[in-house]
Amino acid sequence: SAFDVYDVSVLIIILVLTLGFLTKGRLWGKSPSPEEMYNNIGTSEEEAEGNIIKTMEETDKTMVIFFGSQTGTAEDYANRLAKEATARFGLPAMVADLEEYDLSNLNELPSDKFVAFVMATYGEGEPTDNAELFFNFITDEDVTFANEQSADESPLSNLKYAIFGLGNNTYEHYNHCSRLVNKALLALGATRVGPAGEGDEGAGTMEEDYLAWKEELWTAATAEFNLKEKEYVYQPALELTELDDVSDDSVYHGEPNKNHLLHNTASQSLGAHSAHNPFPAKIVATKELFNAKDRSCIHVDIDLTGSNLTYVTGDHAAVWAPNNETEVERLLMVLGLLDKKSTAYTLKAIDPTAKVPFPVPTTYEDTVRYYLEINGPCSRQFLSTLLGFAPTPEAKKEAFRLSSDKDVFQEEISSQYLNIAQTLLLCSNGQPWDKIPFTIMIETLPRLQPRYYSISSSSQVDKKKFSITAVVESIRVPGRKEPLKGVATNYIKKLKHLMSNTVDSDKFMVDYQHEGPRGYLVDKSSDTLKMLVHIRRSNFKLPTDPTKPVIMIGPGTGVAPFRGFVHERATQARNGTPVGPMILFFGSRHPEQDFLYQEEWSEIGEQLGDKFKLVTAFSRVGNDKIYVQHKLVEYGELVSKYIDEGANFYVCGDASHMARDVSHALATIIAKYKGISEFEAEEVVKSLRVQNRYQEDVW
Ligand code: FAD
Repeated sequence: SAFDVYDVSVLIIILVLTLGFLTKGRLWGKSPSPEEMYNNIGTSEEEAEGNIIKTMEETDKTMVIFFGSQTGTAEDYANRLAKEATARFGLPAMVADLEEYDLSNLNELPSDKFVAFVMATYGEGEPTDNAELFFNFITDEDVTFANEQSADESPLSNLKYAIFGLGNNTYEHYNHCSRLVNKALLALGATRVGPAGEGDEGAGTMEEDYLAWKEELWTAATAEFNLKEKEYVYQPALELTELDDVSDDSVYHGEPNKNHLLHNTASQSLGAHSAHNPFPAKIVATKELFNAKDRSCIHVDIDLTGSNLTYVTGDHAAVWAPNNETEVERLLMVLGLLDKKSTAYTLKAIDPTAKVPFPVPTTYEDTVRYYLEINGPCSRQFLSTLLGFAPTPEAKKEAFRLSSDKDVFQEEISSQYLNIAQTLLLCSNGQPWDKIPFTIMIETLPRLQPRYYSISSSSQVDKKKFSITAVVESIRVPGRKEPLKGVATNYIKKLKHLMSNTVDSDKFMVDYQHEGPRGYLVDKSSDTLKMLVHIRRSNFKLPTDPTKPVIMIGPGTGVAPFRGFVHERATQARNGTPVGPMILFFGSRHPEQDFLYQEEWSEIGEQLGDKFKLVTAFSRVGNDKIYVQHKLVEYGELVSKYIDEGANFYVCGDASHMARDVSHALATIIAKYKGISEFEAEEVVKSLRVQNRYQEDVW
């Protein structure tokens, strides 16, 4: 017969092997490799289960504000909107994480309920991780809701919603996510209340965009839901209780979670590390990369040994920094808490939908140092909610004058980069505002976020050691006594100084409690310092085929991931792998001041020969300001040739202008060397993006 026993058994073996291959071994229960586990970070495989209708009924809520947030900003605005709904209109409102609810029952939400979406657009037009499931569901052409009648053309005709998107106009897909969700909801028959709001990070108008949008929203909602405005009264969602006789072992002194507390008090394991459980990593080396009097850029080598964390060239590393001691003291002083800064307290949610935002019990000073973003720009709306707690009538009058006028606030507060403590002190002439309940700070200030850095090393050189390249934020503002000090970069700078035992010439250098909670960021036995880090996967990756040409545009610290790329290919070449050509466009002010990794490029050039070319653009040499995009055009012929040969094109660094200018420059090149119109060339650039051959890592 055509199939004898032998043929059949061979076929079965092939089938089993193929299935095993296709399922990457999952069929026979192989546990995922660390790489696979790590690749799952941030993508929840489980379906969301929360039922919003049930939750709203059980907690007597009329309004729900869903957020899609990556770095916490959208979540912060969602919280503010909920607070305002309740405090100003008596509208019981809750905030909900899009990831936690299955919204396939939106069609069954009663029409007296009000739903708002506050959604950020992330990366190249993507939804934030926590909004992905909902975004894919609602924008699907064949979206089907629970118990939906097949003839129902407007399944969401009961739904009244509001929407505010957070985006950045320097990106190609500005506010893509909220726009698509808005469009989908309208198409499904929902009614929007108020305008579709859009906040623009790129133009620096996010806060005022939000304020303008929410005023229009409330005007429309007042009519739609017959709301009555009442006098603002602060209604705490959290109850704070001071603890007199608590064992210090159970008090969080800045630990990010329970694992770390137990580790610090009883030497327990820290568990698997992730974005929710950072790793105290040893700092191997630090180095100043600039040679300039008042500017600093620090290279840090960090060791992941002892953790499950791994990275791949092109990924991002997150640094968890505390706030600086000057600002910690300042805020404690303003709130009249200096005397009892080390008193422990705990928090309880009064409202069942409110969340305790950080681990408790903790102390006032640890809260301000480790858990709250206290240095950010003071919000006009926040100041206005604090009027009732002013220490004197004069302070109240001044705070009212500032908070009630957008332009005055811009001129006297925002343009001076003042934070909340500095603003309050300005209003009261230095007097404390000790009537402000601490819970307002906890409920209003966002949680202190880790800062992200493009990894500047190659995992093929050392998979457990990575480096970052951070420019220290120290902004001089005319009219302001001290420069504005960025949170994480000045912490990195402090660590560098401790490690190199140098005295800093910066008279405005700020201090940090670098030892960390209970001193666990200092390794006493080896006398090394540690910092909390985690790794985030990115799509910014070298082509899998090492022979493909690579074009890299990385001015300033935008060169960081390309250092990793170039080291990676140099290693491959050393190991005998044939590699394709790489061209790197680097730009900075002056070759003698801020030419990052200058010596390394020469060494690599010697190793890679004609496979590596560095093109530099310096903006403060000579009379003409030369930027990378100019150099790109100058090398247009070569760039065009590489694109023809299947090159990948990478842009990293400043999102405000450079990324856009580079994209246009590439279109100009393609138009010229392909003999097509600018319009057609822009389409070619777009298709390169779609094919993932044009990648951006911009911030
Ligand atoms: P922050 O305290 O966060 O301040 C940052 C800025 O916020 C200030 O410069 C100022 O403009 C504004 N600001 C802060 N406080 C106020 C105030 N009170 N009033 C008004 N404005 C205020 N950076 C690098 O140097 N190298 C990299 O490789 C790198 N890669 C990145 C990759 C990604 C994916 C992302 C998202 C960012 C990257 N960054 C990189 C930027 C980095 O994450 C930080 O934003 C940067 O280092 C500043 O952090 P900071 O905590 O020191 O400053």
